[in-house]
Amino acid sequence: MQRIVIGGGMSGMVTALCSARAGHKTVLLERNNRLGRKVAMTGNGRCNIGNINCDSSCYNGSGLDEFVFDSVDVKECVDFLNSVGIFTFADDEGRIYPITESSNSVVDCLRYALQRAGVEVVCDCTVKEVVKQSDGFAVICSDKRRYADDVVVAIGSGSQAEMPFVKGIEDFYTALCPSLVPLKVNNMDKTLNGIRVKCNVRLLKDGNVAAEEKGELLFREYGLSGICAFDLSAVIARRTVKGDKSDYGVLCDLVPHMPYDMLVTVIKSRLDSRCGREELLYGVVHNKIAQHVLKRVDGLCAEKIARVLKNCLYSVSLIRDYGKSQVTSGGLDGKYCPRLRLPNGIGAVGEVLDVDGKCGGYNLMFAIASALTYCKLYNGEV
Ligand SMILES: Cc1cc2nc3c(=O)[nH]c(=O)nc-3n(C[C@H](O)[C@H](O)[C@H](O)COP(=O)(O)OP(=O)(O)OC[C@H]3O[C@@H](n4cnc5c(N)ncnc54)[C@H](O)[C@@H]3O)c2cc1C
Repeated sequence: MQRIVIGGGMSGMVTALCSARAGHKTVLLERNNRLGRKVAMTGNGRCNIGNINCDSSCYNGSGLDEFVFDSVDVKECVDFLNSVGIFTFADDEGRIYPITESSNSVVDCLRYALQRAGVEVVCDCTVKEVVKQSDGFAVICSDKRRYADDVVVAIGSGSQAEMPFVKGIEDFYTALCPSLVPLKVNNMDKTLNGIRVKCNVRLLKDGNVAAEEKGELLFREYGLSGICAFDLSAVIARRTVKGDKSDYGVLCDLVPHMPYDMLVTVIKSRLDSRCGREELLYGVVHNKIAQHVLKRVDGLCAEKIARVLKNCLYSVSLIRDYGKSQVTSGGLDGKYCPRLRLPNGIGAVGEVLDVDGKCGGYNLMFAIASALTYCKLYNGEV
């Protein structure tokens, strides 16, 4: 069998490699001048390549993630990485990294493995259209027309890349929305820019809690960033894909390690000992957070100050900018490709599918697992 894989990101490289290892003549087409451009950007250059705690709660619930992780587990993904010379470790929170902690070394290992397996890699080649024929597919590329028995799209998303488009699959997409993006806050207090706080956050919609996260929040002059804000953005993005246009609030407990009563006692004792306003929260929160919180409270009532520290509310909206997003919510709809093939027979793996995960290695893990699943399902074809 001859297989063409379109897109040389993580999912395309893994698909092409497994295909060639199974003995199929395999061609990998990539529009950029090199493979794995996005992989090289991941994890701030360290490549958070997976997570040992992968389960469906980490994804958007389209069903495709369950299908894939029922077929391939985390161990198989890690074994596959080992087989191409990528050795890994997991940190205390289950995030998997290459032992080199270098995303470039991951791309290098995959590139050399593709070469060794005999995959024909063609860079600077944009695929414009895939046409089903009576005996396989015609793939119309920027340089020429190619033919194959099997075609797999692994074209990813428009997050920090040019929005991909291949004619022949466009009718099978859901709506799209940038995800894992910072959140814009109306009237943000710009003095907080650059401050990081470990806190508990709740996403509110119409006063109800839509999601909760714990971790680091990074204040920016435009709003909220950091892993907590990114993970909340995923919840908003997934709802936006389904047509929801609501406004959201983020409620922050800025002192999660100190219960409300204890906070009140500390503040009261400082008020009793005639501390000045600026000294009230010394040692409790970052000085700039203290000033920010005190600006939100009239007078010097310990209970009011403690309440704002434990429930600091920001009205937020999604920054709908693919250039700032790590992934895209939405994609090829699982109802058309429940077993990773579209009704016209074209295969699909990775982020082009309607699967998006939280921060923490879940997106690369899905790219790898979906590629391995595709090959498990269809490598037996001759
Ligand atoms: C800054 C950043 C940091 C990230 N960090 C992490 C992280 O630490 N951990 C994690 O799990 N995830 C992370 N992600 C998300 C992760 O990188 C992606 O989910 C994953 O790389 C998707 O892989 P993919 O192969 O499906 O798609 P992509 O990596 O997007 O690959 C698709 C490829 O297809 C090519 N292509 C598109 N259209 C065509 C065409 N018509 N013809 C030919 N080629 C085409 C593209 O050029 C691209 O190379 C991060 C993303 C970004 C942007």
